[in-house]
Amino acid sequence: MDFEFNYGIKLLNSFCLFLRRNLYFLFRVNQVKKTTEIMYRILVSILIVIPGILPSYGQDMLTNFDEAKIIAVKNQKFIMLNFSGSDWCGPCIKMKNEIFSNPSFKEFAAQNLILVNADFPRQRKNKLSEIQIKQNEALAEKYNLDGDFPKTILFTTDEKIVKEWIGFPKGSVQDFIGEIAQFLPEKKSAQKIYKHSTKLMGCRFDFSIQAEDQMQFDKALEVAINEIKRVENLISSWDDKSQTSKINSNAGIKPVKVDKELVQLIVRSKEISKITQGAFDISFGSIDENLWKFDGTMTSLPDSSETLLAVKRINYKNIETDETNNTVFLKEKGMKIGFGAIGKGYAAECVKKKLSDMGITAGVINASGDMTIWGQPVDNDIWTIGIANPNFRNMPFSSLKITNKAVVTSGDYEKFVVIDGKKYSHIIDPRTGFPASGLKSITVIAPNAELADALATAVFVLGKEVGLDLINQLDQIESIIINEEDEIFYSDNIKIY
Ligand code: ADP
Ligand code: MG
Repeated sequence: MDFEFNYGIKLLNSFCLFLRRNLYFLFRVNQVKKTTEIMYRILVSILIVIPGILPSYGQDMLTNFDEAKIIAVKNQKFIMLNFSGSDWCGPCIKMKNEIFSNPSFKEFAAQNLILVNADFPRQRKNKLSEIQIKQNEALAEKYNLDGDFPKTILFTTDEKIVKEWIGFPKGSVQDFIGEIAQFLPEKKSAQKIYKHSTKLMGCRFDFSIQAEDQMQFDKALEVAINEIKRVENLISSWDDKSQTSKINSNAGIKPVKVDKELVQLIVRSKEISKITQGAFDISFGSIDENLWKFDGTMTSLPDSSETLLAVKRINYKNIETDETNNTVFLKEKGMKIGFGAIGKGYAAECVKKKLSDMGITAGVINASGDMTIWGQPVDNDIWTIGIANPNFRNMPFSSLKITNKAVVTSGDYEKFVVIDGKKYSHIIDPRTGFPASGLKSITVIAPNAELADALATAVFVLGKEVGLDLINQLDQIESIIINEEDEIFYSDNIKIY
């Protein structure tokens, strides 16, 4: 990288200066003979020559645009030219640190781009060679007449401008990579969608991942599975050793110190409780374990006085979170939190982030109906996502053309018990302690799967009228609801194909 290279030169130059000063001092004080002076001159010349040789080592940003063009043609790659002021322009330095030095970007660039830097340093000590200054000025005259810094230009192999960014690019490094990737058609076609399904967190996960080859896919899968296991260890309320279980076993006793990640998930869960008026509430836990068992062992309804008692313990307002000390305290004895209604969505989002960070530009993570979707699939501009039919689970009843969003479906077909001929689903109405009823399936489309997952559960509890009303008030969130009579209802701005 050019910046690293400049630092290399700077370091060597200061070293030379240091040597020169010290040897000069010795030379004067001790009246060292001519031979010493000759040796000193030789040493200094060597040290001055070394930086000239350095560019051939470890440099992944060129400084010569003509050279870049030749390499681009030879390798059939696009060229990215960056105008920077490496010692005075804050956003340029940020770009160097956060984009050009980012491992995912480096890997992506190594495969797809020839990077060129035209630097305009202002400090005397960073002054470039006369030739370099002339080259950079000529480039600026052609491509940066307004003198924008940083300015980044993407060129085709034959120097046609494809896209320009002025200033630090908006969004994350992944967004930047994704944006560039859109313009690299010939590379895209080499990619393929690989699929794999496996059971994790007690449910089925389907992965559709766009990768260069089997090797990249296998690596991505390994990363994804490890990430899901990590999340499970954090949020499982079944595993006695998990941080979540520690919070539960200390209910009414004391606050428990946990990872920041868990505190933040709980804080977000409480926010969702607030907007859903408590229909979604992670403190539903005491009901779930003691009164309702959805594993087929239940034959009669729970005792109503016991249910009433348990309902009293459900209250998200009694989950005390301290984001400074990273502690969580359940104020009432017997309270329990559980992430059944948000955990899969959260895990899917965590996987998406991990995979995007490793350069996977498109994929779908489907955690038993909780899907997060990103990027553009190879043979299509957009993903087509099927929405499950609650009556025939493997037959989608409709589909959505969608990307960079989450689609989550909660249905009463997931987990339920039948008692005296009536079906009771696993989503509990926190107001009554009884399973919510009236709806068969709810699909929520939202910017991320965590939110969509929680909202789907909330709409189930709230019912069609109130549920749709809530969805229509939320920005960028849509819903499809099927009731027990198989009638379908849509939120205001949904488009179905
Ligand atoms: P699915 O598994 O069908 O996607 P959900 O995402 O709606 O279903 O999650 C249901 C799970 O959420 C239940 O099994 C239970 O663990 C938990 N849960 C049930 N009722 C509530 C509720 N009102 N608020 C929060 N979590 C709930
Ligand atoms: Mg849910």
